[in-house]
Amino acid sequence: MKLDISALRYLTSEDWRVLQAVEQGSKNHELVPTPLIQHLSGQRQGVHKCISALAKVGLIAKVKNAKYDGYRLTYGGLDYLALNTHRKPQPSPTNSTPQPVIYSLGNQIGVGKESDIYITASPTNRQLVLKLHRLGRISFRTVKANRDYLRNRSTGSWMYLSRLAAQKEYAVMKVLYREGFPVPEPVGWSRHTVVMEFIDSFPLRMVEGVPEPGKLYGELMELIVRFASRGLIHGDFNEFNILIRETTDEKSGKVTLTPVVIDFPQVVSTNHVNARMYFDRDVECVRRYFERRFKYTSDEAGPFFEEAVKGADPERRLDVEVQASGYSKKVSELDRYVEVVGGDGEAEGEGEGEALEGEDDGEEGDEDAEAEGEVEDDGRPEQVEGLLEGGEEVPHKGEE
Ligand code: ADP
Ligand code: MG
Repeated sequence: MKLDISALRYLTSEDWRVLQAVEQGSKNHELVPTPLIQHLSGQRQGVHKCISALAKVGLIAKVKNAKYDGYRLTYGGLDYLALNTHRKPQPSPTNSTPQPVIYSLGNQIGVGKESDIYITASPTNRQLVLKLHRLGRISFRTVKANRDYLRNRSTGSWMYLSRLAAQKEYAVMKVLYREGFPVPEPVGWSRHTVVMEFIDSFPLRMVEGVPEPGKLYGELMELIVRFASRGLIHGDFNEFNILIRETTDEKSGKVTLTPVVIDFPQVVSTNHVNARMYFDRDVECVRRYFERRFKYTSDEAGPFFEEAVKGADPERRLDVEVQASGYSKKVSELDRYVEVVGGDGEAEGEGEGEALEGEDDGEEGDEDAEAEGEVEDDGRPEQVEGLLEGGEEVPHKGEE
């Protein structure tokens, strides 16, 4: 799914109003009837012209064999609405003058299993990451259970789930960052997107060798325990979601590796009925990876779920704060989806371990989009309308 922003600059304020009307109408209608679009846009005239302009660039679409005349929002349309929010000045608690979150849009740096990751920059030229959630994109071949449950979903309901994923990810990152966990600073969210600090790093998956594997291993296990002691389990703690920052001491030349954790839509509470299973799975994931990749096996067993949650202070539970899944005992649609589909490490291959051997950089798992030639690959940065002259290229490590 390519994020093509070339039409962004040509949309008129009327077009934007009509696009918003289609979005608003989508809450109750799979296919938004044209008269309703007209009504919601608050415009008496010119709506049809806007509709055809939006349909022409693929931001809204007609549905084949529909019973009535209407349109649905496309992912492209949703992307535009989110970008439009991010580029508008936002009130910020730390800054008295409202500032846009995003000033320019750069290269795509990653295709997650169910997300597209772009590098962006703030008005002060700080490097940021724009994560667009694309739930529903995974190849259904790899999902054994509940295929029908997934297949029968409409585009609109995928968009809804993608929004829930972004909202939850932002909420979780916000409290984790505040509490000093090594996660990127979240700077904004809109619809199915999250904007966060760019971490100049490599995913653990791409790290060839670790000078002191025992040290990094210990730190990662400590992190899992620290999460649990605050009521949270990452739920997908694998080598793609652990970024490794490398810093070199100028004097001694000693290289230090520090992990930064990303990817939070599937986080669960330690009160979840399957909490122990999720906890053990995160632990096992790291253990197995270190064994296989770095030939490192720890002498110590564990960590164990019971011990990790034993000393947890009920007053300081972050799961309560973000209402992580499982806490309220009410299974949200997103939780159900996550349970069915699993994390990065699963679902990409039929058998255990297969997912790792079949790929080389964690940027696969998007067969459908690739087959349709949708994955952006021209390496040229684009810019958000009316912004940075020339769309300066932002260098980063993971690109070459
Ligand atoms: P998904 O949910 O699709 O797995 P992730 O959040 O794990 O998406 O991101 C996919 C990839 O994009 C990561 O493996 C990483 O390489 C890159 N990435 C994501 N967020 C950042 C970030 N804040 N800084 C640097 N790279 C990132
Ligand atoms: Mg991931």
